Amino acid sequence: MDRDQLAEHLRFAAELGVAGVSRDPAWRQRPDGEKGVVPLFQAPPPEKGYDPFLAPVPLFREPAEALAAVKAFIGECTRCKLSGLGRTQVVFGVGSPGADLMFVGEAPGAEEDAQGMPFVGKSGQLLTKIIEAIGLERENVYIANVIKCRPPQNRNPEPDEIQTCEPFLFQQIDLIKPKVIVTLGKFAAQCLLRSEEPISRLRGRIFDYRGAKLIPTFHPAYLLRNPSSKRDVWEDMKLVKKLLSSSSAS
Ligand code: URA
Repeated sequence: MDRDQLAEHLRFAAELGVAGVSRDPAWRQRPDGEKGVVPLFQAPPPEKGYDPFLAPVPLFREPAEALAAVKAFIGECTRCKLSGLGRTQVVFGVGSPGADLMFVGEAPGAEEDAQGMPFVGKSGQLLTKIIEAIGLERENVYIANVIKCRPPQNRNPEPDEIQTCEPFLFQQIDLIKPKVIVTLGKFAAQCLLRSEEPISRLRGRIFDYRGAKLIPTFHPAYLLRNPSSKRDVWEDMKLVKKLLSSSSAS
């Protein structure tokens, strides 16, 4: 992380109510992984003096409120070159802030860019069917992308764009705390897992990721071109269902 990114990160943290940080490793753990409240941290009141490494005082916020703060902080983002390459708007994410299941795609396409919502085009319609096939509603899961702005001509996101944008996805994941994350396609899986393995080798496996189980599967756009792979995705989704029900029983 360079100085500008660090400064940006600290400004963002301050916006959320974080006025201090601590080097204590215990501080990095999620408080018993509970949903419903998001622990944020505040330094002691100013009259007690300000020490950036002082143990923080927890401040609780609802995930919906914290997500709204992240969205507001992103604003009409101009942090990377995509803002000047024809995107209409930032596509933040949709769904339930308390979702147990989260889907992560690559980047908005034309329809998503126009509507400001992820997965609303043809791929999105197929994703909705996949969600419904395991007995869930689109409104009850959360859907986001690694990149929040449409790359021109739907080209692949570039490393500087990923580096700038992915911290916001991490923030979404850490606030929502899903039990299961499904990455859609090669790009999202490789990006989150920091892997160069092909999707054919990543799918069919379960990864531990930021407190969740991560299941890589094929992108709905790929399924539209290769309908025979729907069988594999169905297997992945059965596994998702099993993970969701076993974790709710525990
Ligand atoms: N493809 C993606 O990866 N994300 C979208 O939001 C739409 C299409």
